[in-house]
Amino acid sequence: MSLFQKTAIALARSPGAGRAMRALAARTSLARRFVGGADVEAAVRTAARLREAHGIRASLFYLGEYVADPAAIEHNTQQAMQACAALGRAGLDVHVSIDPTAIGYMRDDALGRGNARRIAAAARQAAGGGRDWVVLDMEDSGLRERTCALHAELLGAGLPAGLTLQARRRRTPVDLAWAIGQRTSLRLVKGAFPERALDHAGRAHIDQAYLDAAAIMLSPQARAAGFLPVFGTHDDRLAGAIMALARERGWGADEFEFEMLYGVRPDWQLALRRLGYAVRVYLPFGADWWPYAVRRVGEHPRNAWLLARSLAAE
Ligand code: FAD
Repeated sequence: MSLFQKTAIALARSPGAGRAMRALAARTSLARRFVGGADVEAAVRTAARLREAHGIRASLFYLGEYVADPAAIEHNTQQAMQACAALGRAGLDVHVSIDPTAIGYMRDDALGRGNARRIAAAARQAAGGGRDWVVLDMEDSGLRERTCALHAELLGAGLPAGLTLQARRRRTPVDLAWAIGQRTSLRLVKGAFPERALDHAGRAHIDQAYLDAAAIMLSPQARAAGFLPVFGTHDDRLAGAIMALARERGWGADEFEFEMLYGVRPDWQLALRRLGYAVRVYLPFGADWWPYAVRRVGEHPRNAWLLARSLAAE
């Protein structure tokens, strides 16, 4: 991790900076770039605009993670349920992403499981027959087993549950082997929680692990199970290899998805759309945008000017 990224993470965690930025303005250029809106309605408007203008789909994510306060847990759950209902009313994919630690897993697994069921049931009820999924994000390694178990439980209850797996973890092919035979949506990412003891060492090995997992996700077995492969990456080199593999295996450009973070490499998102590929953006919304947006800056020093403008109070 670079010094720049470490500094950005420290800033993201600073309660003082967060309070000051929230008080400052809900829509600084930093927030506008990476966050789809301050509330559900604004986020759905952003999703509708992306769909209409560019054919880009969205997964709504209410900002707030690692939460132990019961009122905040209930609030996060309600926001995700409201997002499902609002997406359904707008005729869009009922697609939300959730962090288990946002909906109860910091407090009590049973509470988290119950809330995940409520959100998935709301998604099923609102679903319009598009690509309607509640996708579980994968957080630090302490959550891995419980997140996979939750995914299996929701699928077993006939709910539209998807899962995120991290290519950097050596264990991922094992988790993938189970998921591949399911009618589910699986998002493959490189992984944002490095843990030396559990990971492939170094960028080249992680990229290779990503491509190995992609090959399994694009297998005939996955296709037969009604599995939706989703490649969550901004890496155009990986995307190019995946496109070639998909073509070779006979997958249509719309039968799998590339998913990127809202505001990150929008030019590449549009380029993929022009080539006919299905593109989704992970669209965060809510008032608690500061830690999320500053982490995006930390990933890419060229975004630092956005941070500078926000700190200068616009
Ligand atoms: P990188 O090699 O990091 O980036 C590829 C290229 O993209 C870079 O060269 C750079 O030019 C560009 N780029 C990357 N980030 C930025 C940025 N912020 N601004 C501008 N350009 C940039 N991780 C988890 O651990 N758990 C999750 O549940 C999870 N969910 C995710 C969901 C989605 C839809 C996405 C896209 C990512 C998710 N991640 C998650 C994060 C992921 O693990 C990576 O940390 C992140 O996507 C960066 O990896 P990359 O594949 O884009 O490749």
